[in-house]
Amino acid sequence: MIETDIIIIGAGPVGLFAVFEAGLLKLKCHLIDSLPQAGGQCSEIYPKKPIYDIPGFPSVLAGELIDNLMEQAAPFKPGFTLGEAAQTIDKLEDGSFIVTTVKGTKHHAPIVMIAGGLGVFEPRKPPIANIVDFEDKGVEYIIKDPEFYRGKRCVIAGGGDSALDWAFFLADKNIASEVALVHRSSSFRGHLDSVQKVIDLAEKGKIKLITEAEVVGLNGDGKLEQVVVQHTANGEMLVDTDHFIPLFGLKPSLGPIADWGLEIEKNAIKVDTKDYSTNIPGIYAIGDVNTYEGKLKLILCGFHEGTIALQSAFARIHPDKKNILKYTTVNGVQGF
Ligand SMILES: Cc1cc2nc3c(=O)[nH]c(=O)nc-3n(C[C@H](O)[C@H](O)[C@H](O)COP(=O)(O)OP(=O)(O)OC[C@H]3O[C@@H](n4cnc5c(N)ncnc54)[C@H](O)[C@@H]3O)c2cc1C
Repeated sequence: MIETDIIIIGAGPVGLFAVFEAGLLKLKCHLIDSLPQAGGQCSEIYPKKPIYDIPGFPSVLAGELIDNLMEQAAPFKPGFTLGEAAQTIDKLEDGSFIVTTVKGTKHHAPIVMIAGGLGVFEPRKPPIANIVDFEDKGVEYIIKDPEFYRGKRCVIAGGGDSALDWAFFLADKNIASEVALVHRSSSFRGHLDSVQKVIDLAEKGKIKLITEAEVVGLNGDGKLEQVVVQHTANGEMLVDTDHFIPLFGLKPSLGPIADWGLEIEKNAIKVDTKDYSTNIPGIYAIGDVNTYEGKLKLILCGFHEGTIALQSAFARIHPDKKNILKYTTVNGVQGF
């Protein structure tokens, strides 16, 4: 049994910053995440994209933000259970909780802070019969590191910002040796600016734009070698490639969290904005996973929510102690 003051479910940016704020209150945290690494959406979906709305950082790569948050949390020695989804939560008679993961790892604490973001998220996959056979053998649903595609032939599918931005990036920076963008319509859902940039590169011959078409088949022996493209007007054509990257977005699902007796609205946990507490005393929800009137799913809002929630958590753990707000400039950071 892992014992701690606060179990944080979700090691995304919001969960990580909560470790720092808890540390200032001398509360120890243990984080659980179903992904094998910390960082949530920032690490899993867009580590190389710059974020422009983190206060004090005119621009920071999402991956760098996570590195900084890990460094900021380090003095407070958080524990991690990674690669294991939190499956069940049990409330004991004394009001404390036991959180058990899919692998059976048990964690015990008086407070649970859910920072589960979009929940357990899965990419939307195109309906191609043998696509599973080529996963990690040429088929990827997320671009984590563009360098992985250096010198390679890539076919990207999709009509949103992700597909447009990555097709542009891999071609414009001369990372991939060939880039084709396949989209089933002749109009795109992405920003006009992104669409124009792709059209400009297509006119220069740096992107092969295949519209009104869909990838319907995959060929290869042990690894992907070719995609079958079905064009509405011209029938089938074969495109030789090393990678097929369908970027059709993510399917968010709260997963096990939805079964814990919490009040759920719009696939998110309802909270009281006084302290971001849920309907179960001792359980808080912060970041993308919660909902309330005026909610914004932004990292900076999650940082605020975690800070306020921890003040309330402190009062629950130490009802007899008065917490006086101290500036870090005055007190510094006293690690454990
Ligand atoms: C492409 C893209 C660009 C974005 N750009 C910006 C931007 O410019 N500025 C901005 O402020 N925001 C941006 N966002 C949104 C931002 O990423 C989110 O607001 C932020 O990640 C929320 O952080 P979080 O910690 O609440 O959740 P997440 O980052 O989603 O992390 C939640 C973690 O909880 C884990 N989890 C869920 N359920 C369980 C479970 N049962 N057990 C264990 N682990 C679990 C997940 O695996 C995940 O790692 C962007 C999002 C995307 C997709």
